[in-house]
Amino acid sequence: MASDYTGRRALVTGITGQDGSFLAEQLLEKGYEVFGLVRRLSTPNTQNIHHLLGRVQLVDGDLLDQASLENAIRQVEPDEIYNLAAQSFVGASFSQPVVTGEVTGLGALRLLDAMRHRADKARFYQASSSEMFGKVRKSPQDESTEFYPRSPYGVAKVYAYWACVNYRESYGLFISNGILFNHESERRGMEFVTRKIAHGVASIKLGLTDHISLGTLDPRRDWGYAPEYTDLMWRALQIPSPEDFVGATGETHSVRDFVEAAFRHVGIPEWTQRVRLDPKFARPADVDHLCGNPQKARERLGWVARTRFDQLVGIMVDADLRRLSRTG
Ligand code: NDP
Ligand code: GDP
Repeated sequence: MASDYTGRRALVTGITGQDGSFLAEQLLEKGYEVFGLVRRLSTPNTQNIHHLLGRVQLVDGDLLDQASLENAIRQVEPDEIYNLAAQSFVGASFSQPVVTGEVTGLGALRLLDAMRHRADKARFYQASSSEMFGKVRKSPQDESTEFYPRSPYGVAKVYAYWACVNYRESYGLFISNGILFNHESERRGMEFVTRKIAHGVASIKLGLTDHISLGTLDPRRDWGYAPEYTDLMWRALQIPSPEDFVGATGETHSVRDFVEAAFRHVGIPEWTQRVRLDPKFARPADVDHLCGNPQKARERLGWVARTRFDQLVGIMVDADLRRLSRTG
């Protein structure tokens, strides 16, 4: 059945990432024509969108290259632009701070400017992050909480956030920030702590390894399930005027809680001997505690995070058990 959105055109940057792949599925389902910006890599990295190839159209471009963004927007003529591309790993932002600033911060500005000149009627979603709250000024965090980033990644996201607000106010463009708290899935990159734990616990269960190395067990995050968060992105662009929204579960858990839940899920209640602390994985400055208040998104967008913490852990561990059982 044709939906109201048939024929609408969406440009998704970061389509090969976790969120881009879920968002692309959801937009296709609604009838959108979906275009994904992909950068040139020596080895193509399309495993997250393998099942969508042929249904999404890939456009060459890089957030570091202004001309490529202008060309992409001219070619696609998008109704909606979702800027999900970033150097998104906080850990790597300490070792590659400049490239993180270029891609995650200035990259958003480049895309905003391309939209301003080539598609000023389009609607723009910016993937802002709870990492902007960093050393939190109040808890839980909402749309009015002051930012205090704790990493080059957080700093770059704050820059991109304010560039969006500035372009919205200066040029009357439809630009919305989703300030999303951590969201995970079976497609999460391997270096993030949830995926590292899920994969590690599945490997231990299958006898492929005997321990996991982590940096610290104490930090707390508000962890939700990624496909629900990409639905928030779409909803944020369907309201009459642009606004910023926090997306979160409103619950917080520690890395230790995640480890415990993952081992419990596979029937290994005694896990302390199987987790080693390695300072190599700790950060020069960390974010100790994040917990979001999603009230505005609930009231204005009808959006709620439904997947509970234990379910999320189960989804991720089971997916890695299946994957490892197939491949060894
Ligand atoms: P991923 O790391 O999975 O995906 C990042 C995407 O950005 C990949 O498609 C990557 O392409 C692309 N990319 C990186 N550099 C460039 C570049 N120079 N030009 C074009 N594309 C580039 O991130 P997620 O899907 O998890 O997150 C999506 C967005 O949401 C990111 O901006 C992230 O910072 C933000 N965010 C994520 C949260 C989360 O918990 N997941 C929370 C809050 C915000 P390639 O495959 O070529 O590397
Ligand atoms: P982030 O919230 O975007 O930084 O997501 P991560 O999954 O990378 O990290 C979440 C928290 O887990 C941070 O406080 C990390 O310091 C902490 N953590 C502890 N050990 C590890 C580890 O081995 N790898 C990662 N990625 N994070 C770890």
